[in-house]
Amino acid sequence: MIRRFGFGLLLWLPSLVWAQAIGGYAAGCQLNARALPASGPGFYVIRSARERFYGQPPLIEYLQNLGLKARQAQLPPMLVADIAMKRGGPFEYGHRSHQTGLDADIWLRPPPDDPSPHRLERIKAVDMVDHRYYILSRHFRDPQRRLIALAAQDERVSRIFVHPLIKKAMCRTYGEADWLGKLRPWFGHSSHVHVRLHCPKGDTLCEPQAQVPAGTGCGRELASWLNDKAGAISAGPRTPFRPVLPKQCVGWVR
Ligand SMILES: [Zn+2]
Repeated sequence: MIRRFGFGLLLWLPSLVWAQAIGGYAAGCQLNARALPASGPGFYVIRSARERFYGQPPLIEYLQNLGLKARQAQLPPMLVADIAMKRGGPFEYGHRSHQTGLDADIWLRPPPDDPSPHRLERIKAVDMVDHRYYILSRHFRDPQRRLIALAAQDERVSRIFVHPLIKKAMCRTYGEADWLGKLRPWFGHSSHVHVRLHCPKGDTLCEPQAQVPAGTGCGRELASWLNDKAGAISAGPRTPFRPVLPKQCVGWVR
């Protein structure tokens, strides 16, 4: 009885006290997540009925800050899609990471003229790539480039997943900028970018991902993606939809 009570207290106390990312990006959970408000200067949350707008405080601050920078740069408000569920953990459907409150998807399409909650809930993605010809579509323009550049120039950011053609366009525009190395070519990601923050300082249970390779990644690495017509680059073993979670997450997430 005492043991049970003690264990429950152990689980319960930290959850009241501090925010924490626990485990890996694709096998973890979060404590004391904060909700990103439905809108703010320079951003709107889309598809909020999914309730995936919770993140760790550094990510929520980062997104609000990025919205402000976008507004200062006179860019249209950005559209923030999935972050994480309130307690984190694996989604029932969709992508496999976003489990610790340190990942966020930002759509690249401009906001609708009428950004009503109803419209933002049902908004459709716009592809920045014309997949028939493997070229960027007419939708990928200067505002998209500038938003991605602003998003990457923040030391909290570990990496941003983008379509290889988007990386190519960024390399062309920004040449030797050191943050280009954070833009990681990856499958999908032609209508949105996926921002991933480093583990917050002090979150000892947060599992970091390896540092991105040194350099801009605009040379050989990008070429290997662009030349991969045969699809030889593999995403590696897929993390299961029901990964083994750290013990701190068991019973915390559904
Ligand atoms: Zn994502």
